[in-house]
Amino acid sequence: MLVSQGVDAALAGVLGLLIGSFLNVVIYRLPKMLERQWAAECASLDGAEPAAAEPFNLMVPHSRCQQCGHAIRWYENVPVLSYLFLRGKCSACKAPISLRYPLVELATGALFAWCVWRMPGQFGGLAWCGFAAALIALALIDWDTTLLPDDITLPLLWAGLLAALAGFTGVSLANAVWGAVAGYVSLWAVYWLFKLSTGKEGMGYGDFKLFAAFGAWFGWQALVPIILMASVIGVIVGVALKLNSGLREGGYVPFGPFLAGAGFTAMLFGPDAILRVAGL
Ligand SMILES: [Zn+2]
Repeated sequence: MLVSQGVDAALAGVLGLLIGSFLNVVIYRLPKMLERQWAAECASLDGAEPAAAEPFNLMVPHSRCQQCGHAIRWYENVPVLSYLFLRGKCSACKAPISLRYPLVELATGALFAWCVWRMPGQFGGLAWCGFAAALIALALIDWDTTLLPDDITLPLLWAGLLAALAGFTGVSLANAVWGAVAGYVSLWAVYWLFKLSTGKEGMGYGDFKLFAAFGAWFGWQALVPIILMASVIGVIVGVALKLNSGLREGGYVPFGPFLAGAGFTAMLFGPDAILRVAGL
């Protein structure tokens, strides 16, 4: 039993490395794909002829070095190993490759192995793998671009409701549905209170959708612990950035990565553990 559990977890870890490699593509390209789509829609509203653009999606064109355009060969694209083999540099121009790529691959691999180890032989383990993958992509896209694309948040929300329906998450369907509703409405209300009282926007609609997805995956009972955790992470990171004067122009830090951090904490330790640590 233990051996097969270990083999399954190791296989899930390898799958996670490969999915992590794909997530790197999603994180880099999805915001650019959305920008192109919006630009094309604006142009068509202006009555301009749609410009014939080169295809650009998650599959096409092949990955290239962003410095010199060197086409990345398959053996330069093996998760983690290629980064080590290339010593973190492009094989053609020696421009440094971001350490983020292997870190995303390693994190995805570790989370996949953990999910399958915790829920051996169950679909629930795979469902949580999907949850983790979506959360990694959302956290980094939001950090880079302050966007939480509907293309990920909405399927994540539906997947949470379906996983509850199928019994994969151990959350009753009623608790999942109320979780989704309460998650969306609560942040929506906070957003409007903040906006009406200060005239500023503290969050975006993507945050409501991500919080609604958490309600679906963990049940409504987890929402308060998750928002507490997200706020604590936000304060810590905010102070750290301030001390490092790492704040970007306007001092705006997106909230999605902190929500995602709280979602990972809830997945790894359970939402109740957050309250226990807080002494509640
Ligand atoms: Zn290069």
